[in-house]
This record gives sequence, structure tokens and C-alpha cells, in this order.
Amino acid sequence: MAIKTIGIIGAGTMGNGIAQACAVSGLDAVMYDIAPAALERGVATVGKSLDRLIKKGTMTDADKAAVLARISTTTELAGVAGADLVLEAATENEQLKIKILGQVAALVPPETIIATNTSSISITRLAEASGRPERFVGMHFFNPVPMMALVEIISGLRTSKETVAAVTAFAEQLGKTPIGVKNSAGFVVNRILCPMINEAIFALQEGLASAEEIDAGMKLGCNHPIGPLALCDLIGLDVELAVMEVLYGNFNDPKYRPAPLLRDMVDAGMLGRKTGRGFYSYER
Ligand code: NAD
Repeated sequence: MAIKTIGIIGAGTMGNGIAQACAVSGLDAVMYDIAPAALERGVATVGKSLDRLIKKGTMTDADKAAVLARISTTTELAGVAGADLVLEAATENEQLKIKILGQVAALVPPETIIATNTSSISITRLAEASGRPERFVGMHFFNPVPMMALVEIISGLRTSKETVAAVTAFAEQLGKTPIGVKNSAGFVVNRILCPMINEAIFALQEGLASAEEIDAGMKLGCNHPIGPLALCDLIGLDVELAVMEVLYGNFNDPKYRPAPLLRDMVDAGMLGRKTGRGFYSYER
């Protein structure tokens, strides 16, 4: 079945980014959130993002109006009932997601595919909560969604091949490059990226080099566009710590133990750019 209308649960950072990507690609997006203010902020964020494209000359005012007209908002979950695909992008909390998925499953026809944008919760577990594990899948978009090309398509143990094929085609419709991933903590990108950042923090903690030198090493030696410590400041040290804890908890392998310095900095409220201090200081 062709996917034309997407129901998006949660209008936050990821939800509004996904809505923008859908609407820019000519699809209709219905954003649902419990907080009316989040919906307003979500639409305003899309508007500002489109304004940047107009400034760059890659979009006209008329295009912007057409894109915004394809995004509707609702504080009633029933608003997503007619969607061809429902994508859950609410707060990262397993109990909350289980509750939402149960409500969505009771609302949408049994053939409707339900996807989740979770970064760290088991797709197999959420699939069971959806009551339709064959038609449940992970679609892990990257932030900022309109700019980032990758979508990890994560199969739970019982996700059907047809479901994977449908959401793979949908991701391509958005102009994204999907990669297929088996359900496992951190999926592919965070499984590799977060331990790399954690190792950079160990290197700093052990006094191997300064933060600037570690970042220069990885930029100039590996052609990374940004050093691991500067990237950690961007992601948030609390988010990096949470991912390492998920990896450590799932695999019980000491190679995933969070660096003590990372934990200490989180305890000190040095969360990176969002608090003005992390491995670097930022003007506020
Ligand atoms: P966010 O905090 O910006 O937005 C979450 C939104 O969910 C909020 O607007 C909140 O009001 C809404 N919400 C909470 N409870 C709800 C409910 N019961 N029903 C409907 N809406 C509800 O979070 P985010 O960064 O957009 O993350 C959303 C999801 O995407 C999480 O699962 C996260 O792990 C995942 N993710 C985040 C990133 C990232 O970089 N931020 C990247 C990839 C995946």
C-alpha cells in the first residue's frame, strides 16, 4: 500500500523534523501531541527551518505555504486514525511508549503499520506492546531530520519482510537512505559512535592529550567533520551517558562501561552546549 498520510505521535525535536521531511516530499503529516504548546512550537520550528531554505534560495514562499498546508496538528489521538502509517516519536520512556502504542493499536486498522523512532528501547518489546508485531518496525531518524540522510530500519524478532519493504520505500520517498538493522541495543550507529566518544573521554581522563588535541587528532587523522568531544557537547553528555548505560546493561561487557569523567561531568551539570559547559565552554 502506498503511504500518503503519516500520523506522527509527538511534536518535539524529532516529530516536527519528520513532519517537515514528509510534507516537503509531498506527503500529508498529522502531528499529535498531548501539549498544545508543543504543537505550536513544532509548527514554528518547521516554519523557521523552511525560512532558512528560502534564504538559501532553494525554496519559494509559495513552496513554504504548500509544505505547511500539508502539516496538520491535533491533541486528539483519534486525529491519526486515518493515517497510512503511524510513527511514534514521543518522549523516550518505555512505559509511556507502551501505553501510547496500545492506544494507537486500538484505534488504527489492523493492517496499518506502526513504527517507532526510539533510540534505545527494544523494538521487539515495543512490537509486542503494539499487538501487531509483524506490522511493527523501528524507524530511527537522525537529528536534524531534514538534513540527515540516514534512517535505520530496525526489525523486531517478528517484523515481517513486507513491513520492512514498505517503510524502506517510505524512507526513500523522503529522500533518505535507509539501512536495515537487526534489533540490538544502540542499533548500528550509536553502537559504534557512542563507545568511540566514550573512549575519547577515557583518553582525556587519562591525560593522553587535551580536549583540543584529541578532537584535532580525530578530525585530521580520520577525516571526521567534528571531534568526538565537541560532538559529545552537541549531543549532550547526559544522552551519551544514557546510551552507554543501555549498551553496558544490555551486553554486560566492560568495554561499554561509561568513563568515570563522563559520569562526573553529568553529575556536575556539565551537559555540553545545552548548559553552556561541557568539554568546551559556550557563550550563552
Ligand atoms: P522531545 O522531548 O523533543 O519531544 C517529545 C514530545 O513528545 C514532546 O513534545 C512531548 O510533549 C510529547 N509527548 C510526551 N508524552 C506524549 C504522549 N503521551 N502523547 C503524545 N505526545 C507526547 O523528544 P525528541 O528528541 O523529539 O525524541 C523523541 C523520540 O525520538 C525519542 O524516542 C528519542 O529517543 C528519539 N530520537 C531522538 C533523537 C534526538 O537527537 N533528539 C534522535 C533519534 C531518535
